[in-house]
Amino acid sequence: MHNVSEQKLIALDHAHVWHPYSAMGSGQPVYPVVSATGVRLTLADGRELIDGMSSWWCAIHGYNHPVMNHALRAQMENMAHVMFGGLTHPPAVELAQQLVSLTPASLQTVFFADSGSVAVEVAMKMAIQYWHAKGQPGKQHFATLRHGYHGDTFAAMSVCDPVTGMHTLFSDVLTRQFFVDTPQCRFGEPCTDAHIAPLAKTLEAEHQHIAALILEPVVQGAGGMRFYSADYLKKAHALCHEHGVLLIFDEIATGFGRTGKLFACEHANIAPDILCLGKALTGGYLTLAATLTSNNVAETISTGKPGLFMHGPTFMANPLACAAGLASLQLLRDTPWQQNVQRIAHGLEAGLAPCRAFESVADVRVLGAIGVVELHHPVEMETLQPRFVDAGVWVRPFGKLIYLMPPFIINEDDLATLTRAVTSIVADLS
Ligand SMILES: *Cc1c(COP(=O)(O)O)cnc(C)c1O
Repeated sequence: MHNVSEQKLIALDHAHVWHPYSAMGSGQPVYPVVSATGVRLTLADGRELIDGMSSWWCAIHGYNHPVMNHALRAQMENMAHVMFGGLTHPPAVELAQQLVSLTPASLQTVFFADSGSVAVEVAMKMAIQYWHAKGQPGKQHFATLRHGYHGDTFAAMSVCDPVTGMHTLFSDVLTRQFFVDTPQCRFGEPCTDAHIAPLAKTLEAEHQHIAALILEPVVQGAGGMRFYSADYLKKAHALCHEHGVLLIFDEIATGFGRTGKLFACEHANIAPDILCLGKALTGGYLTLAATLTSNNVAETISTGKPGLFMHGPTFMANPLACAAGLASLQLLRDTPWQQNVQRIAHGLEAGLAPCRAFESVADVRVLGAIGVVELHHPVEMETLQPRFVDAGVWVRPFGKLIYLMPPFIINEDDLATLTRAVTSIVADLS
């Protein structure tokens, strides 16, 4: 199978394989990639592309990293997997201990899940079980922000933006949640009473039905790549406390340095009751996510009825994935990632700034190692994707957004190639 021709591979792919948010038979291009090292993806036809996506926020250290490879090989020779019911192992315990020490002090327990979506499901179940144990079983709904994205499973979908998440399609299976207008205060700006009023109103009116407020702190990712004021989080935190609503931060995209802080909640200096991590947790090597919570939530769930937390995936705390997580954290400790992210922020700002002059562009924004060009109209992926590939870069726009979030190890030249490709393609759209 490894030897099938490139044409045959693409034909078989078109015939049998679904891709994310895709239509079978659409004929949309897919590019066979045969290897990846550092910030470069090598295609089957020999072309090399500079990666501007980090494989959706994950590959923060780049691809084929010797330290990561070594850690995984060592773990594999020892034990690739073992069930987690009644058994435990060093990679899981060490990773949990390190996550506890890196995140806000009140978060003391770790539930390992297989993907970000599952980590969100787990967080939502924790919130419901917490209130059930406290004798408030009526608190089974959630408040959340418009333009959010929390994953593709049903409970996670129920708190995604109802329009981009196509809630009408699944109306009978999705729980109705309480949607609050997305924050209008931009990152770095203060959050006024008017900015927080929509959330205040919802929590005041509906708190007896609301188990938790779930949101992506500072950066709303796949729901629109919006950056908002850290001040908003402080006010939201106080409102949750006031109304007896738990606070869940979904840092699956923002976690592990992407916004310039190790976790986005550090911009506001507050701790949520429950924290979801995923994506870059394993440095982009394997799927693994984690839901952290406080002793208060954990003890309440564990001592109330039914006396246990109702979740336990087959591949929970997979040792290979945990070993990848430990190696990735080691690399973060051993590399000047803050300087790298700051350097990338400057490069993105300088490189994307010319886009501000183009008619087709509504906004250009940069935060940490995230650069976004928002257009007035949705782009045609079919025509744009091949143009980026021809320019030697891997950039995957969606809707009105062309964005870059390269691996932290990218150098100035490669970053400049990325921003030049975006700038020239956006110029042609105008
Ligand atoms: C990607 C993402 C998820 C879902 O993670 P999966 O691993 O794709 O299930 C949830 N929340 C946020 C903020 C994300 O960016």
